[in-house]
Amino acid sequence: MQPILMSDLYGQYLTMKDEIDAAIHDVIKSTKFIKSGKVIDFEKKLSDYLNTHVIACGNGTDAIQIALMALELKPGDEVITTPFTFIATVEVLALLQLKPVFVDADPWNYNIDIGKIEKAITPKTKAILPVHLFGQCADVKTIMAIAKKYNLYVIEDACQVLGTDYILKDGSRKKAGTIGHIGCNSFFPSKNLGAFGDGGAIYCNDSKLASTIRSIANHGMTDRYYYERIGVNSRLDSIQAAILEVKLKYINKHINARQKAAEYYDSKLNKIEELQIPKREEYSTHSFHQYTITTKYRNELKSHLEKNGIPAMIYYPKPIHIQKAYEYLGYKKGNFPISELLTETVLSLPMHTELNEEQLEYITNKIIGYFRG
Ligand SMILES: *Cc1c(COP(=O)(O)O)cnc(C)c1O
Repeated sequence: MQPILMSDLYGQYLTMKDEIDAAIHDVIKSTKFIKSGKVIDFEKKLSDYLNTHVIACGNGTDAIQIALMALELKPGDEVITTPFTFIATVEVLALLQLKPVFVDADPWNYNIDIGKIEKAITPKTKAILPVHLFGQCADVKTIMAIAKKYNLYVIEDACQVLGTDYILKDGSRKKAGTIGHIGCNSFFPSKNLGAFGDGGAIYCNDSKLASTIRSIANHGMTDRYYYERIGVNSRLDSIQAAILEVKLKYINKHINARQKAAEYYDSKLNKIEELQIPKREEYSTHSFHQYTITTKYRNELKSHLEKNGIPAMIYYPKPIHIQKAYEYLGYKKGNFPISELLTETVLSLPMHTELNEEQLEYITNKIIGYFRG
């Protein structure tokens, strides 16, 4: 059996090697390394896939920062988000002197608890920043309805959900990240569509806002060497864009492979009472950026798996409201009990496009063995 990896980026590369190698060489030959050639091609293809405007940028963290800048949020404005997320979501709020206001997570789908959002709204609230965690959408349509009622912006942190569909009441679908005012994505190597380095993208349906975003990502420039606003330097490299353009062709195949692995996990693990498999919501497909279970025996199970050569990861081990850097916000342990509990119970199992049945059988047998001895 091949060694089991948390995510097999090299194995996946080998399935597309000729195309990716050729695409990289094309960029070198063209010398169009920045903001031209492949970057434009890739933006166009991703835009067709998502059916919205796409602006490429340096990484997912920048994407969120640029989104907040484009909406002209001011220091002291409050932005509602979740403490159970990757730090980037909250870090950019702090950098822009916006005030993160946390709302606890839902215990079953791990996303922001939509039933608790309205209580957190104050006259200073300007935006809601839901995170679509692990590959499944937060209930963004309901969030949009709340936003409309209170005249707020919605920025979707869609860094973990490329390829996920939000399913509307009438059964029609929209790509995750394209429902709010702005969506933010990351091409970090292990994400659903991963580069061979850093990369990010910002989505937006409004063309005027899209050109503001494009300008902010490029130093606030409008015409060459004329600056209408303060911006940043955040670019996707052409070599990364060329790689992403190849990989985008296979995104549905790759999501499918993740979903098949998830189904296998489900079928073997759903009978174990001491463990919960990830809940699927009717308003979203699941692209399984992570396959995350919860169990109160998490730490023991993790060591058991590791002893048997199976990696497993804790996303995330500590909620943001009690991280040292964010103590200034004044939150305490106990403020968000669900997020706190999740940090003690979640475990993400190996999940990638190259997992085979032999490996899945081995992993699930070891989990069953742990609980059934
Ligand atoms: C990966 C990620 C980011 C940041 O993306 P980078 O490209 O690493 O800057 C932000 N939010 C979430 C939820 C992420 O998973």
